[in-house]
Amino acid sequence: MTILRLQDIEIEVERKAIRNMHLSVYPPDARVHLSMPFFLTDEDAKSFLLRKWQWICRSREQVLRQPRQTEREYISGESHYLFGTRYMLILEPITTGSNSVTVQGNKMIMRCRPNATRDNRRAQLHEWYRGHLRTMLTGLVNKWCAQLGEAPVQWTIKYMKREWGSCMAHKRHLVFNLDLARVPVECIKYIVVHELTHLAVQNHGPAFQELMTQRLPNWKLLRKQLNDFIAIPVK
Ligand SMILES: [Zn+2]
Repeated sequence: MTILRLQDIEIEVERKAIRNMHLSVYPPDARVHLSMPFFLTDEDAKSFLLRKWQWICRSREQVLRQPRQTEREYISGESHYLFGTRYMLILEPITTGSNSVTVQGNKMIMRCRPNATRDNRRAQLHEWYRGHLRTMLTGLVNKWCAQLGEAPVQWTIKYMKREWGSCMAHKRHLVFNLDLARVPVECIKYIVVHELTHLAVQNHGPAFQELMTQRLPNWKLLRKQLNDFIAIPVK
């Protein structure tokens, strides 16, 4: 791997046995990575990067605006996502009535007691995410079970650090990561089909991949979109 410096941005350049240039910006530090075929030169890389410069800057801004998961304070001004759409969190202290979260335009409005702690606010938002994700998953799991001719399955939502989902095939039980509430619906669909496909094939080998391609032809693109969105690696 080599480093190319262009207008104060360092770009990792990696040569691989591929046919096309492939550019990514990764969270959390907006690292720019270019994979390129062996037969192209540094000059080719430079002119490609300059052509993509606007995209690079926009993607870097987007990634850098997104506070890291662990550093979130659940305070006004923070960015939070629901199904791939970014909202600005606004806290509205209330002294009577019940807590709530609503979206209005590009704002996510959280009403809570003025003395609510960070953990209280986090729990309140997670509960709200859980409700939205449960509704979304109910529709998707039922639809895909019917479409794939699978008998009904059981599923739960859990907060997980390393996986988007898991499948206990022998129990026909799927688990979905609560963070899926933050990503685009297309990516949630990919995880649903992925976990349902583990009922048939328990590893990620060629048989699994072939079945995925039959069921969801653009699954590799959706997987990439998902991994670019939040950096939890999916196999
Ligand atoms: Zn899997």
